[in-house]
Amino acid sequence: MPLENMKAMLSKAAAGRYAVGAFNVLDYNSAKAVVEAAGELRAPVIIQTSAKTVTFWGSRTLMGWLRELAADSPVPVAVHLDHCKDVDLIGECIEAGWTSVMIDASARPFEENLSLSRRVVEMARPRNVTVEAELGAIVGVEDDIHVKEQESHLADPAQAVEFCAKVQPDCFAPAIGTAHGIYKGEPKIAYHILEKVAAATQVPIALHGGTGLSDEVFRKCIALGCAKVNISTQIKYAFIDGFVGYHNAHNAQYDPLKVIKAQFDEMKKGIAANIQLFGGAGKA
Ligand SMILES: [Zn+2]
Repeated sequence: MPLENMKAMLSKAAAGRYAVGAFNVLDYNSAKAVVEAAGELRAPVIIQTSAKTVTFWGSRTLMGWLRELAADSPVPVAVHLDHCKDVDLIGECIEAGWTSVMIDASARPFEENLSLSRRVVEMARPRNVTVEAELGAIVGVEDDIHVKEQESHLADPAQAVEFCAKVQPDCFAPAIGTAHGIYKGEPKIAYHILEKVAAATQVPIALHGGTGLSDEVFRKCIALGCAKVNISTQIKYAFIDGFVGYHNAHNAQYDPLKVIKAQFDEMKKGIAANIQLFGGAGKA
């Protein structure tokens, strides 16, 4: 199918109380793992690229791979630019064919976040590109954004309502206590904030920092309005472990395609398990 934006898939997910998995890819092999897992499970899916990955490969090269993978897929695929602070890069990705973008101006003062996010919506909407925006600071290390734990703050529900009314994002990422990277100990999720924000804004919520959350936390967050769940760290681990694990087990063999296949299988297995957990299987 041709690529689509996140609008229809997220509104269906929000209404059906399931979530669409949004998986950060690194290269062709990881993107293929996402598309194949989703296709086999008949699930709508979001391929995410970090700003760093776009810069590494180049937007046109990356989009060439992704567009082709989606075209051969029986399920709807969106290509989304994850956490981006750079409006020029957002413009470049929209030009190259991304169907969705995230403006992350969450480190800026509220009014600046509001106006920059609004500006991205004005750039994106005429091109049929959906926009995710963030409020509050989601802790951890992701891409080039570093938020020290002590500086982190949760989204304020009243501000969240004002933000969504003025920006009108297609997807909203309020900081609710999840973090990027590997959790050290049990994360404290601010369910009351999630519940209030989801109900008051009626905007599909993105759950960031999905790797390492328990099944119970996922179910609760999805039931309260998270319609998009981001998985990045888990794929990074499968990418390295699948590759290294195969080589360690067959260290006399130098057959790169077998190593790449082992890496693919490892990534696909985790992606498929997540799609099932989030309730997306059979929804496409
Ligand atoms: Zn994130």
